[in-house]
Amino acid sequence: MKKLTWTIVPLIMLISPSLVFAQATAELSDGVKEFVAIEGPAVALTGVKVIDGTGRSPRSNQTVLIEDGRISAVGLTDDVAIPAGADIHDMSGHTVIPGMIGLHNHMFFMGAGGRTAQQSVSAPRLYLAAGVTTIRTTGSVSPYADLNVKFNIERGVEPGPRMHVTAPYVTGPDPSIGDMAQVNSPEAARRFVRYWAAEGVTWIKAYTTIRRAELAAIIEEAHAQGIRVTGHICSVTFQEAVDLGIDNIEHGFATATDFDPRKQPDQCPDNSMVVVGEEGDPEGEIARSVVLKMVAAGVGMTSTMAVVEPMTKGRRVLDERTLEAMAPEVREDYLEMVDQIESSPDWAMTEEHLQKGMAFERGFVEAGGVLAAGVDPTGIGGAIAGFGDQRNYQLLIEAGFSAPRVVQIMGPNGARIMGIDDELGTVEPGKLADLVVLDGDLEVDSEVIKQVAVVFKDGVGYDSERLIASVKGLVGIR
Ligand SMILES: [Zn+2]
Repeated sequence: MKKLTWTIVPLIMLISPSLVFAQATAELSDGVKEFVAIEGPAVALTGVKVIDGTGRSPRSNQTVLIEDGRISAVGLTDDVAIPAGADIHDMSGHTVIPGMIGLHNHMFFMGAGGRTAQQSVSAPRLYLAAGVTTIRTTGSVSPYADLNVKFNIERGVEPGPRMHVTAPYVTGPDPSIGDMAQVNSPEAARRFVRYWAAEGVTWIKAYTTIRRAELAAIIEEAHAQGIRVTGHICSVTFQEAVDLGIDNIEHGFATATDFDPRKQPDQCPDNSMVVVGEEGDPEGEIARSVVLKMVAAGVGMTSTMAVVEPMTKGRRVLDERTLEAMAPEVREDYLEMVDQIESSPDWAMTEEHLQKGMAFERGFVEAGGVLAAGVDPTGIGGAIAGFGDQRNYQLLIEAGFSAPRVVQIMGPNGARIMGIDDELGTVEPGKLADLVVLDGDLEVDSEVIKQVAVVFKDGVGYDSERLIASVKGLVGIR
């Protein structure tokens, strides 16, 4: 017996370091620590204005207490008891909002001149720096690259947001499709879903030419696998997709072929976005039935106005920080494209289209729809990771929503659509400590959304400026 005990001792000593490591969930590497500004385990942010994401009115002179990665108290600064040893930061003049949840946040960039590039280095840092603490990739070009970044972030090897990875785009028959998966039978659709669910994706993104039979098979198989489905759809109308059981629909008004008078079953009409933009009525009879159907079924919609705006004639989106983040040749291509749009006499996307999209989103929210948002860093390249999400905030304010409502759209509504709202989305006790500290009063000035002081994820505060500086000139390359 004694001999046995003696041999067991060194064995336990061998395995104990790995047990300790497994328990320390936030074991950050030096590569992450260089961006950490504030580290717990207990942090108190005092004197702040809180817009908590529940939709209620902003509250001034608040203290937000963070303990062991969670929000443990929110209340008047005089009322919140701060535990001994807590790291106290007087943040008077700042606004605290929940970490943003980007629902259309690719890990690749598409820009003017046909450029597409995976952004495994710049995108995670820019999302986190901008206050986007959770993303859904919503269409993947390099799914394994996306999954690898996700695992690295979870292991504390790289800085970045929480990631919910989507499978490669899956579409229907289309001779012009390059790198997407095409499914031409329900069985192929099911096979696709089973494979990617096993690989670790949690969402499927269906694309424009997907037909009803294949979309139905995707949704049924996805739900059987415990994952969800969204779509940038065209061959299937919004109302058809809702009937098939889809969980979320991307982009909104311009992609709703319900409005296209030329629509034939299972076919995506040419130039549908332009035709809908011109002929569709965002407040008419069709709009009402689309909205009511989505609301009744609890299908959320993702607003992506930041990607639409730079393609809209008259807008000339020239965000200084975005231009600096771009690689020089990417910036040149972008600026050239902006000039081309402005000088083109018959450019299809106009201010009127943008306004119609905003009106449709207003109607959707007024009817009780769950609207979320995402940057969609594609189009002509003017909306990039993180900064484009901040622009979404401003465009939703422009669309007529109040600051508390937009904070709700940018965070908690995304959490609801993803089914993670028990843990994330609001600045309330018990939630994971994902929050953004903004320098200024966001309630009175939407520009403040760009003035990020610190971003907390899991109670760790990241230095926004340092993250941005580390990827300057990389957007469009890596
Ligand atoms: Zn997209």
